[in-house]
This record gives sequence, C-alpha cells and structure tokens, in this order.
Amino acid sequence: MERIRMEHGSGGRATGELIAEIFEQAFSNEVLSQMEDSAVVEGSGRIAITTDSFVVTPLEFPGGDIGRLCICGTVNDLLMRGAVPKYVTCGFILEEGADVAQLKRIVSSMAATAREAGVTVVAGDTKVVEGNGGIFINTTGVGFVPEGVDIKASGSRPGDVILVSGNMGDHHAAILSSRMEITNSIQSDNAPLNDMVTKLLEQKVEVHVLRDVTRGGLATVLKELAVSSGLKFEIEETKLPVHPQVRDFCGLLGLDPLYMGNEGKMVAIVAKEDAGRALEMIRSAAYGENAAILGTVEAPAEESERGKLILKTRIGGRRILDEPQGEGLPRIC
Ligand code: MG
Repeated sequence: MERIRMEHGSGGRATGELIAEIFEQAFSNEVLSQMEDSAVVEGSGRIAITTDSFVVTPLEFPGGDIGRLCICGTVNDLLMRGAVPKYVTCGFILEEGADVAQLKRIVSSMAATAREAGVTVVAGDTKVVEGNGGIFINTTGVGFVPEGVDIKASGSRPGDVILVSGNMGDHHAAILSSRMEITNSIQSDNAPLNDMVTKLLEQKVEVHVLRDVTRGGLATVLKELAVSSGLKFEIEETKLPVHPQVRDFCGLLGLDPLYMGNEGKMVAIVAKEDAGRALEMIRSAAYGENAAILGTVEAPAEESERGKLILKTRIGGRRILDEPQGEGLPRIC
C-alpha cells in the first residue's frame, strides 16, 4: 500500500486494512477499539463543542503538519472558553493518490499531539474521493467547562489588560516560506495551549476573555473582541513580540505581523490587578516564553470610539486597525 486508491474507501477489505494499519495503531484506545457506531463516553455539566476543517497546504511544513495542526486548533478552541478538552473525533477525506507513508506520519503526529493535549480520539471516519493526492481532516472537540468559569468574547471590561502569549506570525510565515520555497529557519508555532490556560484558571486569575490568534492575525482578533464588547482597545506597537526572522521576512514581502496567522498563540484579557501575575504564569507555561502585555481596554470617551482598536505606533502616532481587506493567504489551516 503506497498510495490511496478508490477501493480504500469502499468499506470492504481495503478499508479495513487502511484502518487497521494506520488509524487503529496510532489512536488505539478503549472507546475506539469497540468499533461501535457512536462513542459513548463519560461526562457531565456544561459541555463545550467545536468543529473545524483543515485544508492546509503543504501538508507538512517547518515545525508541524496538518495532523498536529488539527488537534491544536480544536483543543485551543475548547480552551478559549475555559473548557477542559477531553474528546476529539476526526474525519479524513483522502484524495486518490494520497501518499500512504505521509498519511502515516500525519496520523502519528496527530496521535502524539492528542497525547500532549490530554484528549482521546473517540470516533473517526475515512472517505476516499477522486483527486490529486490531497488530505483533508475535519475534527470535532468536546470539553467540559468547570463550575464558575465564564470566559467569552464579549467579556472585556474597562481597565482590563490585554496580553498575548508569544511571537506573532510564525505559522503564517512558515507556510508562506514553504510555499515560496524560501529557505529560512522559521517554524510554525502550532501548539496546544493547555498548560498556560490551566495555570491561569487554577491560580484564579480573573480572566475575562481568551481567544486564539489564528487566521487574520492579532489585529483581526482584537478588533472582533473590541466590537463584541463595545469598548475601546489600545495596544502598543513597541510591545508586540515578533521573532526577528519573521520581522525581516515580513519586511521583505511587505507583510504586517499584526495580520498574520498563528496556531499556538492566544490573547488573554484579564482584570488589571491580575495582569502581572498572568504574564508570569503564561511565561512560565509551555509555549508562553515570549508573552507580553500589549495594552488596555478602555471605556469609549465618545460614541465613535466604541469597538475601535487603536495602535500606538513606534514613532508615537495612532493608527486605527480594522479587519483585513481582501483575501489574505488561503489554506493556511
Ligand atoms: Mg479560535
């Protein structure tokens, strides 16, 4: 079995072989090995559910691959509501001609990332379609929200402090470099953020908002959060953490790190008195070493300031940031 053929999707012997050889080995767990029509699992209370489809190209890129990416994206979306991620399902759509060795690497990376993030893959599906060797993955994640936790996009309050958990634009720059065949050492930041979120919640930091910085980048995320709270957000350009190599790469191509996607970074908006503590916790957590305080949430002084995102620039000016215009980079995740 070197390439995926249509018969791998037939439901017959070839499908059985594919599942046994690739998926069962990697994901093996009690629930999955029952091979039932649906997984029955333990859980109670408030349930967080999220779903996402991953169509990134290339399938493997510096620092990660579509398998790690799909688990991180799903787990992070659960964490951003303060949920404890528990279960994941995955649907694979394989195009005819997909490289089986590569699929194996992707699935094993997915399994390793699931272990890292503390989630179990409890259900899965595979379909084969005509095509050109592509691999697409849909994942759904389920988590449980502890009592008293209420983290939501509209949760910002005047006086709150805006933090970001690390360098901006790494994933985007890694994908773009790879597609443009530019040689550099930029790595995708795709990572599960369990450790930093768990620390913040366990240490009772007053967290109002969490959002992972993905497609559209930091400016897009903060603009959405400003609009949904009806408050004014102010951030400082000089505080923005960007890896020097990503900064150079952006400069060369005329890109703005404020609008570049990540896959392992989050924004946290916390009560002012907890900001220092929150920064230390994120910095001491996995993947948070470059965390920074970026700015503040303020009550709008006038109606026109409602939902505005303002950047205090390096040279002392003020720039109003909006959602990106146009298409951006497709198939980044
Ligand atoms: Mg998200």
